[in-house]
Formats: sequence, C-alpha cells, structure tokens
Amino acid sequence: MRVLILGGTTEAASLARLLADDSRFEATLSLAGRTSAPAAQPLPTRIGGFGGVEGLVRYLQAEKIEAVVDATHPYAAQMSAHAVAACRQTGLALASLTRAPWTEQAGDRWQHVSNTESAAMVLGDTPRRVFLTIGRQELPVFASAPQHHYLARLIDAPKGERLPPHLVLLQARGPFDLAAETALMRDKRIDVVVSKNAGGDPTYAKIAAARALGLPMIMIARPDKPAGHIVNSPDETVRWLDHVRRSLRGV
Ligand code: NAP
Repeated sequence: MRVLILGGTTEAASLARLLADDSRFEATLSLAGRTSAPAAQPLPTRIGGFGGVEGLVRYLQAEKIEAVVDATHPYAAQMSAHAVAACRQTGLALASLTRAPWTEQAGDRWQHVSNTESAAMVLGDTPRRVFLTIGRQELPVFASAPQHHYLARLIDAPKGERLPPHLVLLQARGPFDLAAETALMRDKRIDVVVSKNAGGDPTYAKIAAARALGLPMIMIARPDKPAGHIVNSPDETVRWLDHVRRSLRGV
C-alpha cells in the first residue's frame, strides 16, 4: 500500500524505520525543508511544500497514495489542516500521530500564554536573561522586546530576519540531557525559559532542569490542530495502516 508520511518529528523518523522494513507498505516521507541538513532517512524522501491543499491533492493523486499519516510537530497546524482538507477531498484515510503534551509537576513554575507574541510581552520591562527554546521561525517576534538578553537554541541559524539585538545563538539538535541542560542554564545565568509544549522525551530535560533550578518557564499553548484518526505511537500507526490496507484489499 502506498503511504505518505508528513514528517519533521522523531515519531515520523521512527515510523519511517518501521515501514522501511515492512513489505506490506511502500512509503514516502515528506519534509518541509526547514533544516538545511535533515537527518538521513531510511525511506524515499521528498522535501518542500506541496503548494497548499490543491498541491497536496495533486501530489496524492499523481503518486497514487492510498493512506496518509500526519506525523508533523504539534505546532505545525497549517500542514495538518491541509492534510485533513486534502484527504477529505480525495477520500483517503488519514491518521494523525499525536504526542501527549507535558504536564506541570510539583516544583514547576509555568506561566501559560496563548502564542509567541504573548510570550514576548509577558517577559516584562525589566531586562532578563531569557533562554528561547522555540526554534528559528518565531525568533523575530522577540525583536519587539529588545531590552532582554536572549540565548536561542535552534538547529539552523536564522537568515536575514529582524532579530532582537542582544541575542546569542546556540546551534544544537536534541536529544538533550538533564545534567547538560542544568549546567547550560546555570552557566548562562538564565532567569526564565520560553518553550512550546512539544511533549516527548528528547527535549524534556529543559523542563526538569528549570524545575531543579527553580526557574520560571513561559509555556506557549499548542495551537488547535485538525486531525484524522488519532494514533499515539509509531507501532499503533502501523497497525492502523494494516487495517486500512486490509479493508482496501478486501482481505
Ligand atoms: P506549518 O506552519 O504547519 O506549515 C507551513 C507550510 O509548510 C505548509 O503549508 C506546507 O507548505 C509546508 N509543510 C509543513 N510541513 C510539511 C511537510 N512535512 N512536508 C511538506 N511540506 C510541509 O509547519 P511548520 O510549523 O512551519 O513546520 C514545518 C516542519 O517542521 C514540519 O514538518 C514540522 O513537523 C516540523 N517542526 C515544526 C516545529 C514547530 O515548532 N512548528 C518544531 C519541530 C519540527 P504547502 O502549503 O506549500 O504544502
């Protein structure tokens, strides 16, 4: 069965590994092309946007895709909306591989905000040392709060966007461990951490490190993301794909 995986996450990479060794499926992984050197993948990979819902519909039809798995990041809401619309138009089965959000534990000091603009605003007027762990795309938002000193961790350096004046970039790709995260926040004398609620293990250490150091975190809420059939792990996704395969093949 021909499968399209919308990726860019650890879970998509795990699913790609499972499907690469499974003769029931012929899968392609799709990446947006945000990182300049994406990790090597075991499946045929296509890179770049489809051109909106219409472009995705054309791709699904041209490639004779029979099922789609949306394994994009919890904050990639537009791609998910396009996947839902395109699968509805083409009548294709769609599963959404979702990741549970992190939940606040005793000792956490989270301030919840609804978007990145609010995160920049609630940092306040007094200059603070801020650890930004939100990726590259929304860094320019913090140019509106130039009084703070920022340490921004990201995979690729920003290109040409307007950035806050006091900004140090730290290029790194997870997973991150607790000892290193704690040392980093201590060494850089961080006052506050800004994060998305990505969920998952590979980047959880920053939450535990902030808790250990008693630091406040500004937690940006997840966007509403339209979804297909919800699955919670790569293994469950394979079982769902097999169920779709059987019903399409009548076996
Ligand atoms: P987005 O806002 O939902 O999508 C914007 C546009 O990028 C989409 O309309 C689509 O372009 C293209 N696109 C997104 N994901 C794609 C994919 N997997 N394959 C092909 N095209 C894709 O997405 P985003 O937040 O920019 O995220 C981009 C990628 O980075 C996703 O793969 C996501 O899983 C990954 N990622 C995002 C975050 C985050 O915080 N947002 C964090 C880690 C990883 P067209 O309309 O032209 O098709």
